[in-house]
Amino acid sequence: NVRVRFAPSPTGFLHLGGLRTALYNFIFAKKHGGAFILRMEDTDQSRFVPGAADGIEDMLEWAGIPPDESPRKGGDFGPYQQSQRLDVYSQAAQKLIDQGDAYHCFCTLQRLELLKKEALRSRQTPRYDNRCRHLRPDQVAEKLNRGQPHVVRFRLQEGVEHFNDMVFGWNRHEVAAVEGDPIIMKADGFPTYHLANVVDDHHMQISHVLRGTEWLISTSKHLLMYKAFGWTPPTFGHLPLLLNKDGSKLSKRQGDIFIEHFAEAGTLPEALLDIITNCGSGFATDNHSGRKLDEMISEFDASRITTHSALLDLDKLPEFNRIHLMQRINDEQKFVFLVKDLQGLIGQTYGTHVQESDVLHSEYIKRILRLRKGHITRLQDLVTPAYSYLWMRPSVPLGQLEGVSSEAHTILTLVLEFIEKQGKEFTPEYVSLELKTLSKKMKATKYSDVMKFLRLALSGQQQGPSVAEMMVSLGPNEISNRLQRLL
Ligand code: GLU
Repeated sequence: NVRVRFAPSPTGFLHLGGLRTALYNFIFAKKHGGAFILRMEDTDQSRFVPGAADGIEDMLEWAGIPPDESPRKGGDFGPYQQSQRLDVYSQAAQKLIDQGDAYHCFCTLQRLELLKKEALRSRQTPRYDNRCRHLRPDQVAEKLNRGQPHVVRFRLQEGVEHFNDMVFGWNRHEVAAVEGDPIIMKADGFPTYHLANVVDDHHMQISHVLRGTEWLISTSKHLLMYKAFGWTPPTFGHLPLLLNKDGSKLSKRQGDIFIEHFAEAGTLPEALLDIITNCGSGFATDNHSGRKLDEMISEFDASRITTHSALLDLDKLPEFNRIHLMQRINDEQKFVFLVKDLQGLIGQTYGTHVQESDVLHSEYIKRILRLRKGHITRLQDLVTPAYSYLWMRPSVPLGQLEGVSSEAHTILTLVLEFIEKQGKEFTPEYVSLELKTLSKKMKATKYSDVMKFLRLALSGQQQGPSVAEMMVSLGPNEISNRLQRLL
C-alpha cells in the first residue's frame, strides 16, 4: 500500500523546488494507486508565517496535484499539522527516555556557545559533547523538580547504518562518529524536525519518503530512531536538486520562484509541471516538451531518477506555455474555461468599453483563440495594446478617413459587398487577394492608401498586423458592424 507525503514547513510561499518534490510524490502515488499526503511541519514557532499553509495547499490544487489527505481535507491519520500533534511527540519522546534511548539535557546556551567556539578555534566541526548523557537519575530528577530549562536529546548508537536509497543506492554513514546527540524536544516543549518527522511518517503509515537530497545526511539519524522505536522504516529516495541552468541555487536567482508569481503571470500549471520535470530524470522517454500529467504518471520510472542535479532554464518557460496553451485550445473541455478566462481578462483590461459590444461573445472569442493558437505564449498576450483593436471598436471620424482617401464611400461599400458575398474560407491569403482586386477598381487611391484607410477604419490604429490578418481576426460580422457605422 503506497503512501507518500509532501511535508513542507509553512514558512513562506511554495516555490519551484517544493512543487517539484510534491509532484514526484504525487506521480509516484498515482503510479502505484497509492495516496499522496500533505503534512505541515510547523513546529518551529519562530519561523511561523500566517497563511503560508493555506497558500501551499492552494498552490498544489492550482497545479492540479491535490493531496488525498491534508490539513484542509482531513483523513484517517490526522491532524495533518504537526503543531496539533504535540502530545504524540511528547509520548514518543517519553518512550525513548524510558528505554534509555533519550535523555534530558540541561546544558545552557552559553555552554553550547562555548563548545562551538572551542571547536572552531581548533578547526573542528562543532558538535555537542553528550555531557548530559552521564547525569545520574537523581540529578535529573532534582533539576526537573527545580524547573530547570531543558531539552531532550536522542542517544545516537555507535555503528554504521546502511541503507539502500532509491536514487543514490547504498549509503553508509556513521552518525555518532561525527555528530553529537541531536535534540528531539526543544525547551519550548515542541519537537524538532527529526522526531516529528519520524513519528509522523510511522503513524501516518508512509511507505516511501521522497524528498530533496539535502535530507540525505539526516537519514541515518532517522533510521537509528526507527530502530530505537522498534518500527520498520519507510523506503527512502532522495531527489536531486533543482538548480538554475548555471548551477546556482534557485533561491538566489533574481527572478521570482514562487508558484503564486507564475500563476498570476498567466503560466499554465501544466507548463510549469512540464518544465520542472523536463530538466530532470525519472521518465521512460527522453525529455520533450508538451508532456501532460497523465503521461508523466504513465511514463514515470523511479529507477530512472539520476543523481545529477536538474538544471532549470526558465527562459524556455514561454515556449512550454505556448505548447500547453495550444493543447488547451485543442481540448474541448479545457477550451471552455479558457474562453471564460479570456473574457475575464478582457473585462478587467478594457472595462466598460467592451460591456456593450459583442466582442465578448464566446463564439467571437473562440475564433480568436483558434486563430492565435501557436502564436501566443499566454492568454495575457491577447490583451496587450497590439490586440486591443479586437476588443475595442474604434471611433474614427469620417473626416479623418476622408483625409486618407477621397473615395471613402466607395471603399466602404466595396468591402461590405465583398463581406456579404464572401464564400470561400476567410483566410488571410484569400482576403488579401480580394483586397488587391478591390483596390484596382479605385481611381484616385493607390493600394497602400486603401490599406491605410481600412486599417484606420477597422482598428483606429495607424500600425499593426496586415489588414488581411486583421480582417480575418475580426471576422465578417464584426467587420461589417464596424464599417456599416461609418456609412
Ligand atoms: N519539513 C521538511 C522540509 O521542509 C521535510 C523534509 C522531509 O521531507 O523529510 O523540507
